[in-house]
Amino acid sequence: MDTNKKIVDFIHQLYDTSEFVPLSVPRFIGNEKKYLAECIDTTFVSSVGKFVDRFEGDMAAYTGAKKAVVCVSGTNALHMALMLVGVERNDEVLTQALTFVATCNALSYIGAHPVFIDVDKDTLGLSPTAVRKWLKNNAELKNGICYNKSTGCRVKACVPMHTFGHPAHLDELVQVCTEWNIELVEDAAESIGSLYKGKHTGTFGKVGVISFNGNKTITTGGGGMLLFQDEKLGQLAKHITTQAKVPHRWEFVHDHIGYNYRMPNINAALGCAQLEHIGEFIENKRQTAACYAEFFRNITDVTFFIEPISCYSNYWLNTLILKDKTSQLNFLQYTNDHDVMTRPVWELMSRLEMFKGYENDGLENTQWLADRIVNLPSSVRL
Ligand SMILES: *Cc1c(COP(=O)(O)O)cnc(C)c1O
Repeated sequence: MDTNKKIVDFIHQLYDTSEFVPLSVPRFIGNEKKYLAECIDTTFVSSVGKFVDRFEGDMAAYTGAKKAVVCVSGTNALHMALMLVGVERNDEVLTQALTFVATCNALSYIGAHPVFIDVDKDTLGLSPTAVRKWLKNNAELKNGICYNKSTGCRVKACVPMHTFGHPAHLDELVQVCTEWNIELVEDAAESIGSLYKGKHTGTFGKVGVISFNGNKTITTGGGGMLLFQDEKLGQLAKHITTQAKVPHRWEFVHDHIGYNYRMPNINAALGCAQLEHIGEFIENKRQTAACYAEFFRNITDVTFFIEPISCYSNYWLNTLILKDKTSQLNFLQYTNDHDVMTRPVWELMSRLEMFKGYENDGLENTQWLADRIVNLPSSVRL
């Protein structure tokens, strides 16, 4: 039997359906309706309410962050994270080309520029070896500040992304960023529940960002979260994302340029209910990944991507590495023609019109992976 047909049959069987199998859809199996009804009954649907506070507290406890601050979206949270670590106009930010566009959009909002560095094949995330090599060849420290020798711009931050929920090599990234005095901001949008050496992703850098978009492991409809180890910075984040109003019973005084990035209480209510089931969701997703791994063991020229060593991954999106670009195109065509939703990795940032003029390090692994990655249906199985 043709391999692609075998795979499509297996996925229909896995999801116990002969109908369309989506890539990643939300599951509501708990207190969602109850909490939403409470918001409406109490009229607390908007910018303040107990679910906002509870969701922040619950997320801080769950991730081990000192402080967690909700945002309207993961993209907004990334924007705030970069601003809060001091990224300014014309600064450079080291990041990967293999990411969702939000990472690059966020730094562009500030007027900063990306420098695209390669990823590792065993994590799909930013390679500390490649970061180190680029810095050694292209950067210098002057009075403790890192500059790009050819552009003269300051290299202010580094944003690794934990691709499809798999943690990047965080110890090494922390180390290289410390050596070069570069701020580490983790785009942990996809990696809620994923651990690196037992510690939650998003808590290694100065700031970490999580997304609760509808296709992520848990959702608030739309939303994001900032994770801080520095409580003061977290308090500043809360202030700035809520219009920077000086607390007072009736006066309207603001002491910063503020943003209306606060998450409404109804979204936070959804988040609280979803978070109550995250353990089950991730167990379920890991079982699905184990089923895929077992199935693909006997299929030639196809590698099922397994979590990096010393990591516990949420397997947000299951991933195959195919033999070549032709196999990738054939696979995408066949599966999508046969009611199984699959997709390639995002078009590389370094190839998008807005970002293709920026420096990169050759992106060898990145381009190799872009020709071979496909994502498989990964929703929690009911
Ligand atoms: C989902 C995602 C974001 C944030 O997306 P929002 O839809 O704004 O919440 C950021 N970065 C990556 C890598 C993502 O996958």
